[in-house]
Amino acid sequence: MKSDVVISRLNLPGFQERGVQLDLLRLDLTHPQISGNKWFKLKYNLNRAKQKGSSVLLSFGGAWSNHIHALAFAGKEAGIATVGVIRGEEPQCYSQTLVDAQCWGMKLHFVSRQQYREKNDPVFLKQLAELYGDYQPIPEGGSNALAVQGCREIVAQIERLGGDYDKICCACGTGGTLAGLIAARPEHTEIIGVPVLKGADFLYSDIRSLLQQSGGVDPGQWRLIMDSHEGGYAKVSPQLADCMDRFARVAGIELEPVYTGKVMLALERMLARGELAAGSRVLMIHSGGMQGLRGMRDLLRKQLKRHNSGYNV
Ligand SMILES: *Cc1c(COP(=O)(O)O)cnc(C)c1O
Repeated sequence: MKSDVVISRLNLPGFQERGVQLDLLRLDLTHPQISGNKWFKLKYNLNRAKQKGSSVLLSFGGAWSNHIHALAFAGKEAGIATVGVIRGEEPQCYSQTLVDAQCWGMKLHFVSRQQYREKNDPVFLKQLAELYGDYQPIPEGGSNALAVQGCREIVAQIERLGGDYDKICCACGTGGTLAGLIAARPEHTEIIGVPVLKGADFLYSDIRSLLQQSGGVDPGQWRLIMDSHEGGYAKVSPQLADCMDRFARVAGIELEPVYTGKVMLALERMLARGELAAGSRVLMIHSGGMQGLRGMRDLLRKQLKRHNSGYNV
């Protein structure tokens, strides 16, 4: 696995006018297939599987899951079999994510949404073991203590590149990535998470619990911005489509709407509310996930059209 990360200065007019330095950590460039934060989240999980001689890694996700996509490829590279337990009945036509995963050798196990909600039920987990052998489970989204350990290294990469920031801002799904950033943050840096799910209050306790499991204490100085989920997971508002479109044109870098687009939108809103002081240095994390964009293009186009034809709210 390689890991060439760069930091780009974003000269976005709105931020420049207010004297706010905004940089972008390009984790989307870490690896062509194991993109972004998933590379860091999987690193120590794979190492442990190799050490223990586990022959099967099993995890959970939706049809467009970046985690499932990354795990399938990482398993293939490491020579470890992978099983993806996928939310929803088997479709007639697989998403491109699942086509890739299957092509890399992942076995796909489709379950109803009802069953998926009960995925941690011991009886269900035992059934899976009967089908696929003695597996090492990785939770949905890949967040566990080993993922937190891996994500601490994102901060090390920033420091290696000479980056020094007042605020570091990153998308949150399950919060594992944010927990790693919090655990390793420099003393003067505030960590800001942007949850992409609606009603993500559970993240406060999940993140604290991940910090504990990985052997640390909560050092504080972090918060969650709760107003930029845009209706929920993989939901796209006209404002989000517009924000991403403007960003692509000005910065020349593409974001995707499920995670990174929402971080940019949250930063614009914080700027508008005066929450980013003149002279402050802010780092946004481009956590990757570009493979998922393949499933979102039509919706993005539609919502951009709505925005440009004057749709409000
Ligand atoms: C999975 C993912 C996240 C969220 O990571 P968590 O550790 O689950 O909070 C953020 N950005 C991208 C692009 C992702 O694929």
